[in-house]
Amino acid sequence: MNTVDYLRISLIDRCNFRCQYCMPEGTELDYILQQELLTHQELLTLLKDVFIPVGFRKFRLTGGEPLLRPGVVDLVRAIASLPETQDLAMTTNAFLLAGMAQDLYKAGLRRINISLDSLNPDTFDKIIGNRGRSRWQQTWAGIQAAHQVGFDPLKLNVVVIPGVNDQEVLDLAALTLDRHWHVRFIEFMPIGNAQLFSDRAWVPSAELRQRIRDAFGLVASNIRGNGPADVFQIPGALGTLGFISQMSECFCDRCNRMRLSADGWLRPCLLNETGQIDLKTALRSGVDLEQLRTRVTQLLSLKPEISFKQRDCGTTGSYTRTMSQIGG
Ligand code: SAM
Ligand code: SF4
Repeated sequence: MNTVDYLRISLIDRCNFRCQYCMPEGTELDYILQQELLTHQELLTLLKDVFIPVGFRKFRLTGGEPLLRPGVVDLVRAIASLPETQDLAMTTNAFLLAGMAQDLYKAGLRRINISLDSLNPDTFDKIIGNRGRSRWQQTWAGIQAAHQVGFDPLKLNVVVIPGVNDQEVLDLAALTLDRHWHVRFIEFMPIGNAQLFSDRAWVPSAELRQRIRDAFGLVASNIRGNGPADVFQIPGALGTLGFISQMSECFCDRCNRMRLSADGWLRPCLLNETGQIDLKTALRSGVDLEQLRTRVTQLLSLKPEISFKQRDCGTTGSYTRTMSQIGG
């Protein structure tokens, strides 16, 4: 089991999109009340006095949509300036990014992952549940702004759903031919989307790789991130292609992360709620921070048992929260 030093921090469970695979229309979501969100001060206290002392060094801000969190630029600045922070990244849908990319970069953010499931505005709007004016253009402008400001690597995340966007895999892969971008294909997971999942199922990464190999050629890349993606490259391309295959190829033994929800629950495994700790309630009830460090250290030592095993990967999980609520 890897050293666990990477914390994914959800800043907010709300989102300005309703992606079919994440927050399907018709699903009633109980949003976290404003007063139940960890405040910036509480989050910084947890980072400085609990997570960093027990060994966490890499942080990713996510959600919901993290750019909806009021004061997100200040928070980025505060986390980036902690001397122990080795890596600070964000996952966003980029809809608000065009106006914020420069400030985020100046505040110390260097790595950004952007979800982009389609290059076709109609398909994109269907996936994100939009019925008004198309949102594709503004999202693409956000991606361009991140590129121009200098975010490197710039990663695009694509959740592949059969019959929805899988026919675009070659076009999306082709974005890497003349750009230093990393396009990552993520196997669709059954979290909070039972109907869509049972209607559409998922496409194994191996099948996507074969399609790309047939069209362009494909070689394993020697560039490795610190995440779960298997990295490949079209020969001669500037960028890379990543495949995140949590359904077809269990990678729990390489897992180096835990997740903190916007209301302060620390979760040791995406697919499993066992062992969660309610850090916000503990903090607000004045618990000694030494005790919190001990509890988090215990959870770290339990993680190998709690994490999914080969037999469970790609099948079931205990999901009382959607991906947007967990902090994907
Ligand atoms: N709103 C931001 C975004 O979309 O980038 C951050 C939060 S979103 C929950 C984080 C990531 O989770 C996105 O890349 C999204 O595509 C992925 N995701 C959400 N639901 C998923 C599912 N059912 N299967 C696989 N990936 C999923
Ligand atoms: Fe929002 Fe991201 Fe979920 Fe889409 S994947 S609904 S953008 S949180």
